[in-house]
Amino acid sequence: MTVGTVYLIGAGPGDPKLITVGGADALKIADVVVYDRLAHPKLLDYAPVSAERVYVGKQADHHAMRQEDINALLADRASAGKTVARLKGGDPFVFGRGGEEAEYLRDRNVPFVVVPGVTSAIAAPAYAGIPVTHRDAASSFAVITGHERGDGRESGTRTAGEAEGRRRWDKIAGAGDTLLFLMGVENLEEIASQLQANGRGPETPVALVRWGTWAGSQETLVGTLGDIVGKVRDAKFKAPAVTIVGEVVRLREKLRWFDLGPLSGKRIIVTRAREQASEFAEKLEVRGAEAIVFPVIKLVSPSDGYAALDDAIIKVGTYDWLCFASAPAVHAFCARLTAAGKDARSFATAKIAAVGPATAEALMSHGLCADFQPSVMTGAGLGTELPEEPFGKNFLVSRAKDGDDGLIDALTAREGTVDAVVAYENVLDAANADAIRQRLLDGTIDAVTFTSSSTVKNFASAMNGLSLPASVLVACIGPSTAKTAEEVLDRAPDILAAEPTMDGFIAALEQHYAQHNQA
Ligand code: SAH
Repeated sequence: MTVGTVYLIGAGPGDPKLITVGGADALKIADVVVYDRLAHPKLLDYAPVSAERVYVGKQADHHAMRQEDINALLADRASAGKTVARLKGGDPFVFGRGGEEAEYLRDRNVPFVVVPGVTSAIAAPAYAGIPVTHRDAASSFAVITGHERGDGRESGTRTAGEAEGRRRWDKIAGAGDTLLFLMGVENLEEIASQLQANGRGPETPVALVRWGTWAGSQETLVGTLGDIVGKVRDAKFKAPAVTIVGEVVRLREKLRWFDLGPLSGKRIIVTRAREQASEFAEKLEVRGAEAIVFPVIKLVSPSDGYAALDDAIIKVGTYDWLCFASAPAVHAFCARLTAAGKDARSFATAKIAAVGPATAEALMSHGLCADFQPSVMTGAGLGTELPEEPFGKNFLVSRAKDGDDGLIDALTAREGTVDAVVAYENVLDAANADAIRQRLLDGTIDAVTFTSSSTVKNFASAMNGLSLPASVLVACIGPSTAKTAEEVLDRAPDILAAEPTMDGFIAALEQHYAQHNQA
């Protein structure tokens, strides 16, 4: 059997976007993923569903897996012909014991590839607005372990000097203009006093960045060599953190960015279907929030089959207007159109209406321009505002099963002839519900967002009787979703979008927290 390759991959410091393209590609072909707690769990999504996932980090009451056992695990799986992705926080060769793992593999003739990563030593300061070098403030930096003896805690390692038991603080103090300590929180007292004893003044600026680049968790504490120990104690500031010593720390005041936005540090649940969640999640994340994607809705093909939709597609040329009630309704319609051997030319004679901008964008992705979008972005709004008298005209409405009847009612009231077809169905998806319930109870969720009545109903089912803690805000995209929240969750929305679009929703969240944070 051919021996598999082990990829020693830098996962980056936290933010899942900071893995390299090479790292993500290696994960995609992995049979086994071995990871620890400093690698963001989202990165596991790159690996095939069938891949074995082995967590080797610290757990509540357990120790981390011993390094020898990790080494053996890597070699063992590779020897069995598996492709192994060894995912390590930051860069694998910066205090990650990646060097030891590579040595072990080489000694056993197991092939390996090293995929360097973005180290927390540089990225955590960067996300706190602290450049490690700067023309006016620092022309060098040094990355130093904060452990007297790298004893493996925090997956630390040991340098030759430390193995001898004594650290040359005179050398460390002068190692660079900027000093970056990893694994240094527990030994901060010694670090601060030794640096002062070796020529760095008590006024030297110091910052600690904890869980750097992790949206929702990053925290920064700023002080000086003279007062940082007390500040860390008072704030009960804990590892993992990068400690930055040097003049560059002053730049944070001007360059701070990641933790500035109104949504920064907010942990927000996104309940939309996975297909629709990513754009919303992305918008939250660029504003510094942690988006917890918990799709309570799965989009599936209609349980009664596609017969009605397919019939409508056959006679698509007989409709005056094709109305789309959502983006998935567009995608499903176009997929069936293609399956029927037809293409966009089928749309030539009809006009096209979209309920809102996301639906219009979905049309655009199939090369179709909506002729009309209402100003009130609901089904009823579309039916009422249609710029043409519906009387005597034929309408096709493509929508979700059990979707809102507002559009059909409004068109029929205006004496149009309406064929309403089900293009897809929303069903409950409660995968991951236990983890979400736990986070709600732990108090590590700030808000839940609802983008349709079905997200509210399905969320309630997925919670299985757990009522939302009062500290968790309810945010709704529009009035009908809000009404459902009142009925099903017994909660009036704390945040309600003025305009029922993604951008309107984001604006409402920002506005709420901007006011709230000031108070
Ligand atoms: N190979 C990693 C470092 C592993 S040693 C890298 O290149 O980043 C573990 C130490 O890294 C932690 O104790 C902490 O000091 C630091 N660290 C890792 N991720 C961090 C993060 N997101 N924020 C702050 N410090 C982090």
